[in-house]
Amino acid sequence: MKYNFSTTRTDKPKDKPKDMSNLGFCQHFTDHMFVMDYDKEKGWHDGRIVPYGPLTFDPASSVLHYAIQLFEGMKAYKTKEGKILLFRPEMNARRLSISASRLVMPAMDEELYIEAVKAITNFDKDWIPQGEGRSLYLRPYMISDDVFVGIRPAEKFKFIIFLSPCGSFYSGGLQPTKIFVEDEYVRTSPGGTGYAKVGGNYAATLLSQKRAMEHGCNQVLYLDGKEMKYVDEIGVSNAFFVIDGEVVTPSVDDGTILKGITRDSVIQLCKKWGYKVTERKISIDEIYEASKSGKLQEMFGTGTATVIAPVGELIWKDKNIVINDRQIGELSQRIYNELYGIQSGEIKDEMGWTMEI
Ligand SMILES: *Cc1c(COP(=O)(O)O)cnc(C)c1O
Repeated sequence: MKYNFSTTRTDKPKDKPKDMSNLGFCQHFTDHMFVMDYDKEKGWHDGRIVPYGPLTFDPASSVLHYAIQLFEGMKAYKTKEGKILLFRPEMNARRLSISASRLVMPAMDEELYIEAVKAITNFDKDWIPQGEGRSLYLRPYMISDDVFVGIRPAEKFKFIIFLSPCGSFYSGGLQPTKIFVEDEYVRTSPGGTGYAKVGGNYAATLLSQKRAMEHGCNQVLYLDGKEMKYVDEIGVSNAFFVIDGEVVTPSVDDGTILKGITRDSVIQLCKKWGYKVTERKISIDEIYEASKSGKLQEMFGTGTATVIAPVGELIWKDKNIVINDRQIGELSQRIYNELYGIQSGEIKDEMGWTMEI
């Protein structure tokens, strides 16, 4: 191995969660975490596995003032045979460097990223839950712990990965959700940071999230920041529509949409299955019209956490757009089965997407 990480084992291992049927999402954390430092002289250095625990920061650290932060989200599955699988980790590595460049943070070699992910996952592999829908959620992120007050690119950084055993989002089967279409605030706009996976993007959406909850919805559909007309994405997931047999998803050309790895995988699968898949601008008016004429067959979000999140209803101004009678669509279910099957090792991976640790 090219990279050597030091390891310090905890002397206070935690009890693993007893109730595997009720793990939830990021409610439990494993015994260890990965930490690595960056400065101009040494580049990335001192990668290490240490006991999970609080970090200390100087109060003037720039992340605490200017949100110099980016993150990733991945899952590791343990198969029935006990193999540990990652899903397209090189895509996360690439995206991390794209996000980094937008905030003038340092890039990271793909190989270093993957070795770090593998090392910490392997170290805490006893924490990977087995069984339907269960996985180990990985949260790699980068922050600046450079001590300065003022605006200039930072020079010191930390890269951290923590792990959380998570339950299935769908213990009772895929449940279509109700989504609030935000027509007042925007998440991002052309020239902004929408295509980067950075914490600051999320801070800007919390007010919309609150508005959604006031409307009985738990997710927000964002419209474009220029004309408030075209669909961008749904909170933490990319949006897909099935209109008259065609699979449509917003194009990412404006740089306002996060290029999901699940999104890319869904596009590839649908094309392989012979669907016409189109990446283009799609307006909320078009969706409304398609629903009125009965052509809007399905809508779903895609993302690592849920894989596929079917949408049963949109709340847009004073209109309720009901989709597929609030039932899970045929294609949504098929994609979920296939993707989840590949990720968890239950279906043969013909796409070459999984990486065994
Ligand atoms: C992470 C994220 C997604 C989903 O990306 P995946 O790689 O599929 O998990 C979609 N939109 C936003 C805004 C995100 O942060």
